[in-house]
Amino acid sequence: MAYDFDLFVIGAGSGGVRAARFAAGFGAKVAVAESRYLGGTCVNVGCVPKKLLVYGAHVADELEQAAGFGWTLEEGHFDWGTLIANKNREIERLNGIYRNLLVNSGVTLLQGHARLTGANEVEVEGQRYTAEHILIATGGWPQVPDIPGKELAITSNEAFYLKDLPRRVLVVGGGYIAVEFAGIFQGLGSATTLLYRGDLFLRGFDGSVRTHLKEELEKRGLDLQFNADIQRIDKLEDGSLKATLKDGRELVTDSVFYATGRRPMLDNLGLENTGVELDERGYIRVDPQYQTTAPSILAIGDVIGRVQLTPVALAEGMAVARRLFKPEQYRPVDYQNIPTAVFSQPPIGTVGLTEEQALEAGHKVQVFESRFRAMKLTLTDIQEKTLMKLVVDAETDKVLGCHMVGPDAGEIIQGLGIALKAGATKQQFDETIGVHPTAAEEFVTMRTVTR
Ligand code: FAD
Ligand code: NDP
Repeated sequence: MAYDFDLFVIGAGSGGVRAARFAAGFGAKVAVAESRYLGGTCVNVGCVPKKLLVYGAHVADELEQAAGFGWTLEEGHFDWGTLIANKNREIERLNGIYRNLLVNSGVTLLQGHARLTGANEVEVEGQRYTAEHILIATGGWPQVPDIPGKELAITSNEAFYLKDLPRRVLVVGGGYIAVEFAGIFQGLGSATTLLYRGDLFLRGFDGSVRTHLKEELEKRGLDLQFNADIQRIDKLEDGSLKATLKDGRELVTDSVFYATGRRPMLDNLGLENTGVELDERGYIRVDPQYQTTAPSILAIGDVIGRVQLTPVALAEGMAVARRLFKPEQYRPVDYQNIPTAVFSQPPIGTVGLTEEQALEAGHKVQVFESRFRAMKLTLTDIQEKTLMKLVVDAETDKVLGCHMVGPDAGEIIQGLGIALKAGATKQQFDETIGVHPTAAEEFVTMRTVTR
């Protein structure tokens, strides 16, 4: 049967755009449907605008440090409207770049919501298209628990477009987004409280990292409240919000920001017209080659709920394009040792096993840990400490994990990701010449076993 397209991609986000462009480059006839914004979550309401706001918040640190270096500055004033307008301009520029990338690689771009009408058929704006392969790359959407007053809360989607910076904010959650946005709001001047339901936020990260970040955030005056969760939200007469906690306490604020995870975006996708099944968590079930339970339909990225990071969606998109249209270049995605950063203030960089994971996996573990005040702060009154930690297998000497909390952690951890992928040993770390004077050199000069 002749199809309209070799590959029909639903969603022009990180994974979808990568798969579409490369498939077209390999000679396939490709269409992409996008209902909302080119570039998806990462470009529009994720990584990119988030990082721009993090930079904005970080300026407060630079201003605080300036006096130590002899600069006298007039009292600064921050204007949220300017930051958001400039951010929006940059996002529009990126949307245009994504459009050009797709169109110039020969992809047919369809604007509108796509709905599966069969295993090889998709409907967009009343028009039906057939395709030999269909790729679902529809991403995710913020999930807010079903509590009375949830409609009064905002999520990251709305935070990027707030008209005014709230004077007081309650951030709910203890994952990447909660910690990053707590830093953004606080850095920009909002009185910020972070509420997390468990004992300590960032579950799954290395224990030393979690404790260290907690201490540093508290030093900065962030109000961290653990074992705390909201039962209901009510609007008060003066327009402010009252959050009643499960323990009966009442907190009054101007904004309640929920960052309690993301669900797969499957709304009106028409999965019922196909044989695509979901897994027990509600994400699309795929095999190791991203094939769903319907043989002509594949799925990648946040909608499969594996590792919800842009570079992972990109790698999965690439793997699909190669497997379908350039099989001789196909290589499976390596999910081991994925480096990642949390852009908190200070940021976290991490790759490989945490100390807890290494012990649980049965390794005999040696831990090297260092805490120090960064050189840049020595001329200031700021007492922030940087943490660096190596988790090493005592029997093989292999470095199992590298963890950091401190300035530029994301930049530093990228290179260490290569070292871990290459299987570097602690001895090879030790034999690597440091770059002096940097914080990063500490990773090759830690000699004393902490535990
Ligand atoms: P998406 O990028 O979400 O793209 C899906 C696209 O599909 C969207 O454009 C959507 O409009 C479209 N779509 C959905 N349904 C349909 C339909 N039926 N028809 C047509 N189009 C449809 N990751 C990092 O690596 N680093 C970070 O710093 C980072 N920061 C983040 C900050 C925030 C606030 C958030 C929310 C996420 C962040 N992420 C970050 C995660 C990252 O954004 C996602 O992992 C990544 O975007 C997933 O890519 P994807 O292709 O699966 O989906
Ligand atoms: P996460 O899954 O990372 O964190 C969700 C948090 O919300 C957890 O602390 C969880 O607690 C808590 N939570 C979940 N359900 C409830 C509930 N019903 N009531 C109260 N608290 C709840 O999700 P995020 O929304 O922070 O981010 C989504 C994903 O996006 C991340 O996992 C990451 O993959 C990606 N991302 C990456 C970034 C980066 O690379 N820098 C930045 C932002 C997002 P508990 O731990 O107890 O379950």
